[in-house]
Parts: sequence; structure tokens; C-alpha cells
Amino acid sequence: MAAFGLKPSSEVKYLKGVGPARAEMLASRGILTVEDLLYYTPFRYEDRTRLARIRDLVPGQTATVLAKVLTSGLMRTRKKGTYIYDLACTDSSGMLRCKWFNAIYLEKNKVFRPGRQVFFYGRVERDQYGTGNLAMIQPQFEILPEAEQSGESLEVNRVVPIYEGIGALSSRVLRRLIAAALPVATESLPDHLPASVRQKNRLVDRGPALRETHFPDAKAPIEELANFRTPAQIRLIFEEFFSVGAGLALKRRKAKAATGIEFKVTEGVREAIKKVLPFHPTAAQKRVLKEIADDMRSPRPMNRLLQGDVGSGKTIVAVQAAMIAMESGYQVALMAPTEILATQHYLYIKSLLEALPYKVDLLISARKAAEKVELKRQIAQGNINLVVGTHALIEGDVQFARLGLVIIDEQHRFGVMQRFKLIRKGPTPDVLVMTATPIPRTLALTLYGDLDFSVIDELPPNRTPIETRLVEDRDRERAFELIRAKVKMGQQAYVVYPVIEEGGKLDLKPAVRMYEHLSTNVYPEFKIGLLHGRLASEEKEGVMQRFKRGEVQILVSTTVVEVGVDVPNASVMLIEHAEHFGLSQLHQLRGRIGRGSAKSFCLLLAEEPRNEIAEQRLRTMVDTTDGFAISEIDLKLRGPGEFFGTRQWGIPAFRIANLLRDQEILEWAKREASEFVERPASREEFDAFVGYLREHWPRRYSLAQVA
Ligand code: ADP
Ligand code: MG
Repeated sequence: MAAFGLKPSSEVKYLKGVGPARAEMLASRGILTVEDLLYYTPFRYEDRTRLARIRDLVPGQTATVLAKVLTSGLMRTRKKGTYIYDLACTDSSGMLRCKWFNAIYLEKNKVFRPGRQVFFYGRVERDQYGTGNLAMIQPQFEILPEAEQSGESLEVNRVVPIYEGIGALSSRVLRRLIAAALPVATESLPDHLPASVRQKNRLVDRGPALRETHFPDAKAPIEELANFRTPAQIRLIFEEFFSVGAGLALKRRKAKAATGIEFKVTEGVREAIKKVLPFHPTAAQKRVLKEIADDMRSPRPMNRLLQGDVGSGKTIVAVQAAMIAMESGYQVALMAPTEILATQHYLYIKSLLEALPYKVDLLISARKAAEKVELKRQIAQGNINLVVGTHALIEGDVQFARLGLVIIDEQHRFGVMQRFKLIRKGPTPDVLVMTATPIPRTLALTLYGDLDFSVIDELPPNRTPIETRLVEDRDRERAFELIRAKVKMGQQAYVVYPVIEEGGKLDLKPAVRMYEHLSTNVYPEFKIGLLHGRLASEEKEGVMQRFKRGEVQILVSTTVVEVGVDVPNASVMLIEHAEHFGLSQLHQLRGRIGRGSAKSFCLLLAEEPRNEIAEQRLRTMVDTTDGFAISEIDLKLRGPGEFFGTRQWGIPAFRIANLLRDQEILEWAKREASEFVERPASREEFDAFVGYLREHWPRRYSLAQVA
């Protein structure tokens, strides 16, 4: 038996066919054990029970053929510097050509030797690069191993799982490794999903589920397989969601039991707050403040996410929460993702609280070493009431005397661990995280089961909606004219440039060149400023302050203005190469304008050609300013994998489950998980499952350490 002596927990390197090099590649995807490998599931299946015969192929068809290589080689084309790798093959019914552009590696590595049996999978087209006969252009391929050039195999005459390659490990190699590991699933893989849950929900056992998901039975309906709806696949998807759901439910239960600080929300606090408020809060701001104040008053620690679209006025809500904490004698830490934003918050809060006896300070790495040392001393002694800062706040030598409230602005910019590090600086501080990146409604409640939610769903009054226009690059003069007209009227403008990464380095040249071009050629009459991430902190701060005071009229900037910057007099934003930006990012950028009473314009300058997705992003921006609608579309366009990078959201990277495709299973599994945590069938089952989660959760799902 191939798997003799192997256990689920054995390191993959002990598996037949895995040496140190391959083990390392697997490790790069978090695959350390045999069990991890078994959970590396196919992303699609190919039905090779129905191989097409070359003679029957028609243009437009997507097909798999199994054919013998006749000849192959690299050919020059008429266009200088481009090559086509051309291959001829036959399956005895006919002959087919396959073509790849510039695929020099195929030649170099002598990938196709005459006589070898190869699967080709792709779209059949008329060959415009040759005789006009049928050809597959850029097909995927898989060379049948020598040993299996005939006879039973993992590759032929069956539904074949296709895996995402890992480094140099192709789908075919992974398939063979997994086939070698599968006996472990059958022989010794315990099913950790509680038996009562499996029975109640009629779920397939774990071993068979894994086997059938990797190597489906010949009778498995291909349609269901493709949609990940076979009983085997459902079982594995359920398992992932159930584990996450149970983990969240456990955390919620623990949080409910913990004791935190009971802040006092007295009449005095209310009066103080009223005095500093520069405007009447909106109804939404009042409502969320009440939710926050209720949490703070209660004996259990607050763990609340405050969502509000860009410009909805989260800052002032945070300030009010901070005042509640300070009035009860506690310290407050406010962490922001950039120095610009931290400084802006600091200056704003300082001026707002000027008449009150609080000590407010700013901790960013740009400050002088001696100042930082002194500031940290003051924080540790409890002399500072509110400290605003960047990551500098989470450094080991920052200690608080009485940290009572942690506020994290633009939380999606921080990793889970960074958040946690700050929270740990007090025994049981209340936590308020704020984000302007709306989580799609459909997912929010199910995924953030351990956080309470507050939403500001209303913009402050007197905002005129932003008008967004798509401007083709050839019409850029018109965009420049619009800016000129607005600036002449006393308003201000942003011109935003993408920072293009070249060879791993960030290229700031385009922004710098644009700055020079605008200041000398286009707007010699205006004051132009330049802002980018490489500037020293004081320079950045200087430019921002001049822009705020209106001394700089047009600010040329990279995306460093993306988060939180607040200059209400700026009413125009021109975004260069808008086709390069992600949808949420465009929305964040646009949120810098439309903050005053003047009508604002967002001009998206885009070059052609653009792909379909870029086009949809731009259209969406023109059509709506609703951040929730935008995030739903963004999720669809990008897919959940990219949308929820674990780093960004603290949402686990699912292996087989897909947040878009599997929402129903998510809700079902989550319900079952809460039920199981609240009312387990037996103590033993509960303990066994929690033990399993403890062991596996931290590595597989980075949510582990949050609360
Ligand atoms: P965000 O939610 O994006 O952080 P901010 O807190 O920066 O938004 O607020 C955006 C702008 O709206 C700021 O200029 C702020 O002073 C202003 N603002 C906030 N609340 C109100 C209100 N209730 N009435 C008028 N202006 C407000
Ligand atoms: Mg903000």
C-alpha cells in the first residue's frame, strides 16, 4: 500500500513522489501535512470520458483530444520578434495543429517529443496563422506519463480533476501526489465533523467525500460536479463553513462572558460633547453613537465595527466615543493607516478639544527620537489622554497606564495581528473599528459573527451629489479646462496618478512628470503641489497643510490621498489611467471630493483599449456613488478570493468553499454551527470538536487570534 505508515498528520515530504524541493513548494501554499494536501481540491473537472475525435471537431467547440505528437517546432512570424510554436498531432481519426505564441520555453525544454500521447484542451478555431485548417490556439495540455501511454490511468477515460498549479507543480503532478495520499483518507482519517451533525444533515463521511471530490466516480453527474454540488463536494464545503461558524460562535460566547470597563455616560459627558460638536449630527450619527455609548456603558467589552461610506462622518463619532472614555479617566488610542491621516486626525481632534483639559498627542515614526521617547514615557505614566498614531502605536515599547478604548480607522488597511497587538495594550479595552469599505450586505452578518455592527447610512446635509464622467484620453484638454474653471472660482482639485510597479519597484516618474507638465505648461497661473509616498513625512505634511489652507490649488498625488483625507473645498478630482484602478479604490479616491457645498466632479481619464472588466468598473463609477452597490459589484468582478485577501479582511481563505457560489451552504452551515455550540448533542462531541478547532483553526483560518 502506497500510504503505508502514513498518518493524516504526517509531513508531506514522506509521501511518495514528494522530495524536499516539492515539499517546499507545497509549503508555500500552506500544505504541510498529508491532510492539508487532501484538502487541496480541484477547481474544475474535465470530462475525459468523452474525448473528442479530431475528425469531428468543429470551429468554436471547446474540446479535449488525446493525440500522438507528430512534429513540433518554433516558427518565426511575419511580425518581427514574435514566434509561434507549432505542433501537429493525430488520433488516427485525423490530424490537428496546436499553436502557442512566443512559447519559446516549449522549444527550450523540449516539452513535446514525437510519439508521446498528449491531452490537448482548448477552443477549436480556423487557423489564421497557417493553412486555414482547424487548430487549437494556446490549448492547455497534459502529457501522459510514459507508464500510462496505454492502460488504466488517472488521466484518461474518466472525469479528471484539474488543480491550480503550485510553482513548478503542475495539475498533473498534484493529481498524482493526491492519488498517492488518498488511501490515508480511507484508512485513518478520522471524521472530526460531529457525528450528530453529519447524521442530522445527511452528510457524506469525510473519507469518501475527499475521494469523490478528487476522483469522481464515472457515474458522477458532470453538471453537478462543475457546480460543486455533488454530495461529496457539499460535505467539504459545509465542513469549512461549519468550522468557521463554530469558531465565531465560540468567540462570541466568550466575549459575552468577559468583563470589561463600565464607562460612565453622565450628563456632564453629554454636555461636554455638545459643546465641542461643530455641527448637528445626522440622525444616523446619533443612532450609531447611541449604540456605541450603550456598549461602553455595559460591563462587557465593546467589539464594534462602524461602517460608513466615505464622507459619512465617522471621525466625529469616534471623537465622541473617545470623550466618553476620557471622562471616565481612561486613555484612548486611535490608530490610522498612514501618517497623513494620523496627522490630520490629530490636528482635527486637537483643535476640536482645545477648550477641554485633555492631553492629545501624535505618535508617528517621523517624529524626532527624543520626542518619541518622552511621549512614550508620558503615555506610560497616564499623562496623555488620547494618542493618535500609525503602526508606531503597536511597537513593543509603547505602554499605556489605563488604556480603555482602542479606535482603529480604516480597519481594512490593517492586518488582524496589528489590530490585536494594539488591543492587547490594555487589559480589556473597548474596541471600535471603522471602515469606509462596505462589506457586501449579503456577507457581512454571516462572516463577522463576532463583531457588532453599526452603519452610518446617511451623508451629512448640504452635499451635492458628485457627477462622475468618463473622459477618453484624447479629450483630456476638456478635462483640464473644467479644472481651470473650478479653480478660478476658488475651488481646488486633485489630480491622481497610479503608482506603476515596474520590476518590483514603484515607479513614481509619471506622477512627477505630470506635476512638472501641469505646473509649467498647463496651469502656469496656479499653485500646484506634489504628494507621493516617497516624500519625507514633513514634506508630505507641509504639502497637505498648504492644500488645506488653499495655498496649493491643484494637488498632484499618488494614491496616498486615498484614505481619509478631508479638504472640503476640493471639488474636482481627475484620475489618470483610471482603467488601472480597482473599483473600491476608485470609490475611495472619489470620496475625497463632494465634501463641501460646491458641486463636485470626478473625471475618469482612461486609455483604450480596455478590457471588459475595466470597462465595467468605469461604468459602475459613472452610474452610482452608493458604496454598498459598488462593493457588491467589486466582489462579483474580482471574485471572493481576491476581494477578501485574508490580510485585508481577516476572513479565512477557504479551500473549497466559495463565498459567492456557496452562500446557501454558508447560511445553512452557520445555523448548524451556532446550534451545535449552544446545544451540543453531548459533552464529548463538543470537546472533541473544539479540540480539533483549536489545533487546526489557527493555521487554516487566520481569524484565530482576533477577539
Ligand atoms: P469619513 O466617514 O469618510 O471618515 P469624515 O469623518 O472625514 O468622514 O467627515 C467628512 C466631512 O463631513 C468632514 O468635513 C466632516 O467635518 C463633515 N461632517 C461630518 N458630520 C457632519 C454633520 N453632521 N454635518 C455637517 N458636516 C459633517
Ligand atoms: Mg475617515
